Amino acid sequence: MNQATAPLPLRHDWSRSEVEALFALPFADLMFRAQTVHRRFFDPNEVQVSTLLSIKTGTCPEDCKYCPQSVRYDTGLEAEQLMEVERVLESARAARDTGSTRFCMGAAWRSPKDRDLGVITAMVRGVKELGMETCMTLGMLEPNQARALAEAGLDYYNHNIDTSPEFYGEVITTRTFQQRLDTLANVREAGIKVCCGGIVGMGEERNDRVGMLLTLANLPEHPESVPINLLVRVEGTPLAGQDDLDPFEFVRTIAVARILMPASHVRLSAGRESMSDELQSLTFLAGANSIFYGERLLTTPNPACSRDTALFRRLGIRPAALPLQSEHVAAPQPAAPADTALFYDAARV
Ligand code: SF4
Repeated sequence: MNQATAPLPLRHDWSRSEVEALFALPFADLMFRAQTVHRRFFDPNEVQVSTLLSIKTGTCPEDCKYCPQSVRYDTGLEAEQLMEVERVLESARAARDTGSTRFCMGAAWRSPKDRDLGVITAMVRGVKELGMETCMTLGMLEPNQARALAEAGLDYYNHNIDTSPEFYGEVITTRTFQQRLDTLANVREAGIKVCCGGIVGMGEERNDRVGMLLTLANLPEHPESVPINLLVRVEGTPLAGQDDLDPFEFVRTIAVARILMPASHVRLSAGRESMSDELQSLTFLAGANSIFYGERLLTTPNPACSRDTALFRRLGIRPAALPLQSEHVAAPQPAAPADTALFYDAARV
């Protein structure tokens, strides 16, 4: 193996000035570095595809200023109780049959109650039996709760740090940044893979985007998935009137995440619906290699499935299969005609 193809070591000792310097590179140089790193760890023409289902919607006691699910903001959102296991499995089955390899289940809770764990772990077991990877986002977790989810076979737990430690208090006051880190440590300790990222466009400075990525990159282990969300300005939330973030700054954030955490999947998450095909393509070039399919995320819109199919085909992108793909999972091929039946909106069942 020559030097150019030798695996890069993963670093956990990035300095603020190094990350600032990456953000400040001329755009073409930053993109070249991100692409170079990306190609040493991933097939650049493959994008991992997940489906997200809200299993309990609204009435969350937390005050995250971007979130329509907080009970504190009047956004017209219709609250829903925890779904029944069979309904969740019905959604997962349909997502699997249309190409998703990972099924993510989100509940708007501060943290799960121990009494909910029986139902939650039944969902994990059921989705695993369908041959899919499982991910959950349920709020803060105690060590015993993380262990119960691990025993049920949960593959990933999502818990975002949202932003930099310095800007965090401007966005959330009902739980601390340290509590986020504690949950991430509990998840790791239980042996579950970590999905952790944040949101940009909330009125933070570049310095905060630097601080957010620096925090993630200097965790003892990089999160396996790093979702980078662009704020969806939902009417009724305190951040509804935020100014647009420069799209190139969004692409820069993706590129820096790719360079800092080269072996992680960087996920283009919320906010994709408002992005042009050209902007999404730039983010793929910057190293984003994971998306959510389906016309809804937890409560906010996502691009129409037919638009995703068409974009993948135009760019020659293949949805990534599971490493040991279950024979049940039929991954859609890029040459397939644009057909909305390939994709599935889990939120609609
Ligand atoms: S982001 Fe999560 S914790 Fe915060 S208000 Fe929304 S559902 Fe609750």
